[in-house]
Amino acid sequence: MSTYQPTNDLRIIRGAASKIGCGVEEYRAHRAAGEKWCGRCRSWRIAADFSANRSNRDGLANMCRPCKRAYDAAYNRRYLPASNAERCQAQRESRKQRDPDFLARERERVAAVRAGQPAAPRPAPPAAPGPTGAAIPAGGPRTRVAAITDAWDARLHERRVRRAARRGAR
Ligand SMILES: [Zn+2]
Repeated sequence: MSTYQPTNDLRIIRGAASKIGCGVEEYRAHRAAGEKWCGRCRSWRIAADFSANRSNRDGLANMCRPCKRAYDAAYNRRYLPASNAERCQAQRESRKQRDPDFLARERERVAAVRAGQPAAPRPAPPAAPGPTGAAIPAGGPRTRVAAITDAWDARLHERRVRRAARRGAR
């Protein structure tokens, strides 16, 4: 159910009509016929061609549905890797570049924990280039995450030691 409500405010109508390049009467006629202008494909379309957007005065999206689809697809192509697999691969490669021994260290940590030794604390990874290319300073969120996971590892180890002791006492 659309909340399509053409406005009667003449100042708004004049502004909208001049933006489109049509007269006020022509604009009014289209709106009265239940149409809305899509600024992207520059055409009048029926209200059903627009999805709902409650933050707009007329309750409809700015772009028609086909335009919005094309716009979103272009946005995703521009800003998102094609798939999650590619995103993960990019992250692994970035980490490998900044910190070549990371995987070897993680393998050692896992082996040590499996052998019943306390997990070595994770060093903070080298700063990653942020989305703008600016380095994320050390002591930022990544370091805090490392501290949390280290505390978690330590608790896990204590629990294992206690469990082993109980088993030994029986
Ligand atoms: Zn359109």
